[in-house]
Amino acid sequence: MNDIDQALSALEALASEPGTSASGPIQSLLDKHFATAREQLQSGSDPTQVIQDLIKAVAKSKKEVEKGLKGWYNGLGIVGKAVEKAFPPNLAGISDAYNDPPLFSEPDAAAALDRVILDSLGRRGLWEAVDVGAEEMGVTYENRDRGVSDELYSILNAIEAGDLQPAISWCEENASFLATPPHPSSLPYYLHRSVFLRTTSSMAALEYARTYLMVYMPTQPVLQLITSSLYPSAATAGTPYNHDDYPLSKMFQAEFCRRHGMAKEELLEVAVDLGGKGGALGVIEKARRVMGERLGNVRTWQDLPLEVPLPSNRRYHSVFVCPVSKEQATEANPPKMLTCGHVLAQESLTRMLKGGRRTAKCPYCPVETAPSAAQRLYF
Ligand SMILES: [Zn+2]
Repeated sequence: MNDIDQALSALEALASEPGTSASGPIQSLLDKHFATAREQLQSGSDPTQVIQDLIKAVAKSKKEVEKGLKGWYNGLGIVGKAVEKAFPPNLAGISDAYNDPPLFSEPDAAAALDRVILDSLGRRGLWEAVDVGAEEMGVTYENRDRGVSDELYSILNAIEAGDLQPAISWCEENASFLATPPHPSSLPYYLHRSVFLRTTSSMAALEYARTYLMVYMPTQPVLQLITSSLYPSAATAGTPYNHDDYPLSKMFQAEFCRRHGMAKEELLEVAVDLGGKGGALGVIEKARRVMGERLGNVRTWQDLPLEVPLPSNRRYHSVFVCPVSKEQATEANPPKMLTCGHVLAQESLTRMLKGGRRTAKCPYCPVETAPSAAQRLYF
């Protein structure tokens, strides 16, 4: 979506530029010229001269407006091209193939589509667009959602602007939620860690660590963090303690959405991303063209006729299958992550610890893990 965002920002810049927008609504510009001419006539100026000046002024304004319009047409053209580039080239053909029976004609499907579009706008804080959209769709967008989206949007904006206080306050208000399984969440630690690392005075930083970071000692490398801050950043570059920032916005958004039972990512963006740039629609369309009639109507497919590789951040797993025992994980046999990051089912881990072994060697890499260090994962 980056190209589209860039093209839209360029248009916004154009709108705020005095050179292109000050020519303003044409009517008020003309009114101004006419008012000047009227004044000159009333004060006794030569009518021929006044009219000639008026013609000149209007012609000059017309040129300026045209010049501004050219910039706008260019900008709009770039947005159009960026949108086209984000989708497969033969979108019309794909859409025809899927349109039998017509898409979104069922009331439920149409309502779901409306909802996803309004959610997408709301998540960006574009409430004017939500209002217009809801009116045209003939639906009401719940107030509760608006408050929740607004809160998310304003806290995310603050994080992007470098102000972590609203996010920290949110964590304090939701401390018990963040502390219960499948948590505890490491979000509050990383927020405080970031404030600590941004504090330039060592004394103030140490005081901050004492007040806010020590409580995380049992689960986080607090002491290493504090010690590393005593060294100049060149000495810690490339080590695990260098002061790189964690993706705090993403972490916050994940917790916030979990708290409110919202999808972690915005659905419309995920769908467009996967179908367009992710290439899924293109691959499906190619299969349809190559394999032709044998595949029948795409809308009756139960499975995709071929594998569509997706980027790793777009792979969703609702179940976990142990790579050792090939059994699906259950509450009684949950997935456990070893210290190396590889994941096995509990029973496989227990089998590896038979005979009183203190640690289990990961079947995929040389790392040994003590049973107490293996972490339960939730899918
Ligand atoms: Zn491993």
